[in-house]
This record gives sequence, C-alpha cells and structure tokens, in this order.
Amino acid sequence: MWIRINQPFAVPPEVRNILTKLYDAGFEAYLVGGCVRDWIRGDQIKDFDVATSATPENIEKIFPKVIEIGRAFGVMKVIAENGREIEVATFRKESNYKDHRHPSKVEFSSILEDASRRDFTVNALYYDLKTAQVLDSFEGLTDLKNKVIRAIGNPEERFNEDALRLIRAVRFATRFRFTIEANTEMAIQKLSHLIRKVSVERIRDEVERIFVSHHAKEAVVLLQHLKLFDCIFPEIAVAILEKKKTWELTLSALDHLKPDSNLEDSVFYLALIYLPTLRKYPIDQRAGQALAIAERLKLSNEQGKLFAYLVQETAKFRDVFSMREATLYRWMKHEFFPILMRFHALDALSFDGNQAGLEFVKRIYPEAKKRFELKPMITGDDLVKLGMHPGRQFTEILTSVDDLMLEGKLKSKDEALEYVLHHFVK
Ligand code: ATP
Ligand code: MG
Repeated sequence: MWIRINQPFAVPPEVRNILTKLYDAGFEAYLVGGCVRDWIRGDQIKDFDVATSATPENIEKIFPKVIEIGRAFGVMKVIAENGREIEVATFRKESNYKDHRHPSKVEFSSILEDASRRDFTVNALYYDLKTAQVLDSFEGLTDLKNKVIRAIGNPEERFNEDALRLIRAVRFATRFRFTIEANTEMAIQKLSHLIRKVSVERIRDEVERIFVSHHAKEAVVLLQHLKLFDCIFPEIAVAILEKKKTWELTLSALDHLKPDSNLEDSVFYLALIYLPTLRKYPIDQRAGQALAIAERLKLSNEQGKLFAYLVQETAKFRDVFSMREATLYRWMKHEFFPILMRFHALDALSFDGNQAGLEFVKRIYPEAKKRFELKPMITGDDLVKLGMHPGRQFTEILTSVDDLMLEGKLKSKDEALEYVLHHFVK
C-alpha cells in the first residue's frame, strides 16, 4: 500500500522541521491532501497540510506558536519560524453525520480511518518524509493518472454525509480538467438538492475558488449538467428559462476570460453570470438588486460594492458620447473603473456586440487619467480668503471649478480664482 514515487518532492525546510519535531516527540506525521496531489500532478503547491497521530494538546506542547482552528475536530495551525502557516490535523474518524453537513461525533483515530473520511481518492494520498513513500488506500494514484475525480467508498453515502462535496467535485474536476467518475456523477445529480442544506458561507467559498481557477465556463456548464447550478443560483436559473439565447452569449463571454489569468476576483464572474437576470430591472435599480444578491450570497462589503458597481455602471458605456466631458472623466475616475472596462468588454460581447463606447473610452483613458489625477485647484480655504462665507454655495463653486479643470478650460490656480471672482463674487 505504501508506494515509492520516482519524482523529487521539494518539501520546504520549515515544513520538514514541523514533521521532524512531531517524529522526535514520538508521533506519526505525514503530508496529506492537496499538496501530495499537486506534487504528483507536477503543479505548484499552495499549502502544505500535515496529518498526525498527535492530539491538539500534544501539538500545543510541541510548537511555540499555534492557532486553534477547530480543536474538537483536531485541526490546529502551526506558525513556522518564517511565518508560514501550516495546518496540522489529528487523524480522525467522523461518524453519524447530521443534517448533511456536520458529523455528530469526531474520534481521533488512525491514518487509515483518516483516509476514509476524506472526499475524493486523489485527495487521500499521504506522503511519508522518512521513507519518501506515498500511502494510497483508494487507488488515488490511478485516478490521478487517468484524470478522474472519484468519491471514496459509496458516493451517495459520502455526499449525504457532507453535501459540500457535491461542489468540491466540480471544483477539482474543472480546475484540473478531470472527469467525474460515472457513479460519482450519478450520485451528484441525484443528490444535488442537498446542497441547499449547506451554509451559504461554505458554498460561497467553494464557488469563489471555482471561479478564480480560470475555467469558469466549464465550471458553470458542469454545475448545470449536475443540476447544482439551479440550487445555488435560483435567480439566474429563472432568467435562463426566460432567455436561453442571452445565456448562451453569457457562456461564450465567460469563455473569453480564459487567457485572462491574472483576474483574481470571483465577483467579476458572478457579476457576469448575474447580468442577464439584473438587466430585467431599470438601470438605477440594478445596484440595489445586486446588493441584495450579494447579501444573500454573503459576499464581503467590498465585494458587494464591486458587484453592484459593475452591473450598474456597465450600462453607461452606451451614453458616453452624450456625456459632458467633466462627467465622463469623473465617471472614469472611480477606483474600480479599470475593472469595469474589462467587464464591459464581456458584457458588450454577451449583449449586442456593440463595443463603440468602450473603444472610445479606452482611447481617451490615458488623457482622462492625467486630468482626473490632478489635485483640486482651489479649496474652501481659498474661497474664505476671497472673503466668502462657508455655505452650501461652496460645493457648487468647487464642483464647477473642478469641471472646468477636468475639461482643460482652467489651467492654473490663478485662473481658477479669477473665474470665481468673476462669476461668484459680486
Ligand atoms: P486546494 O489546493 O484547492 O486547497 P485541497 O485538496 O488542499 O485543495 P482543501 O479544501 O484545502 O483542498 O482541503 C484539504 C483536504 O482536506 C482535502 O484534500 C481533503 O482530503 C480534505 N477535505 C476537505 N474538505 C473535505 C470535505 N468536505 N469532506 C472530506 N474531506 C475533505
Ligand atoms: Mg488546501
């Protein structure tokens, strides 16, 4: 069952150190999960996770810096000397799952039981640093070679235990371009409704990880095929029924994102798939609707703001030719505007293909940036120095000076003061 793999595993010294300290204290310890899988896949490793026979109490005694993540589940985070955080989890067995998401009992156990409670065969590989061998109890290595995501044991039972695994299967399948094994796939389709029992936060985290893994279109199509999509995004499902054509355009827009590998924000993708749904509302209501959705999906405030901004402002590219210059530049000044330009490119593609507004904006953007980055020429203090009394008119005056500066009609502070004297001081 322990297999030697002819492929060097570059375990960083601080991770090595943690394993060694556990051995020295008399415990078993292995690298497990994503890091072993990704090492064998020849991919970059994100985090190193350790599974051990040491209990949380043991772990606390061995390492000076430990953060508790879930003591009852035996999950602790050890902070290495260089600040790297490594999850160190006690071998455990989970049983009697209640409500499709929480085990009612967790017992610390052996490596074999620990392997059986994991979700997919490719995620249940353990690496022993001492012998440089891999423990593969469920033919995960074969599945890795064949590019297959397969539930460990009986798929229906496993999804019944924890329904989040339904989406995790999609995440791994799309990220690695693996297929989902037939029985696992049938079980997902059959039990897709169970995803509704899972907390919004856990679903959100998986959905975010799916979107930022750069195969958004494949993921959406797979979620639909597995009947998960409608359970996660009911509002979109309704919009799709109403307008099938529009949805196909959205999918092809998602496809265009693929080469754009530095787009790390999952909100971008969410906004794109929600657009057909939100276009049903008048433009000035879209932001409000988006905020309500963001709240339901439990996005952060910052994410909610970006979501609302994108779906509302993308419509304005159609008005750029009739906007006053100052209004246009002020619109372009928004911190999210560069993202909006990328967003609108896809929106236009999925709507009517009209890119004229975007092309115009892109052309003037460098000049606009120079202008909207200028500091205000005058402030309220300057107006007071002119003998004016602070009041509501101040905002009007300062805005009007700012407009003219943006439009290049006022070139210096002196000109600005001159203008104020002439127009506002009697
Ligand atoms: P990634 O590189 O995306 O982080 P990962 O495999 O490390 O991939 P995590 O979500 O970080 O994925 O989980 C770490 C490991 O814990 C998994 O490889 C799997 O063995 C186990 N695991 C995580 N969530 C579940 C779950 N819901 N059910 C069963 N096992 C799970
Ligand atoms: Mg991980």
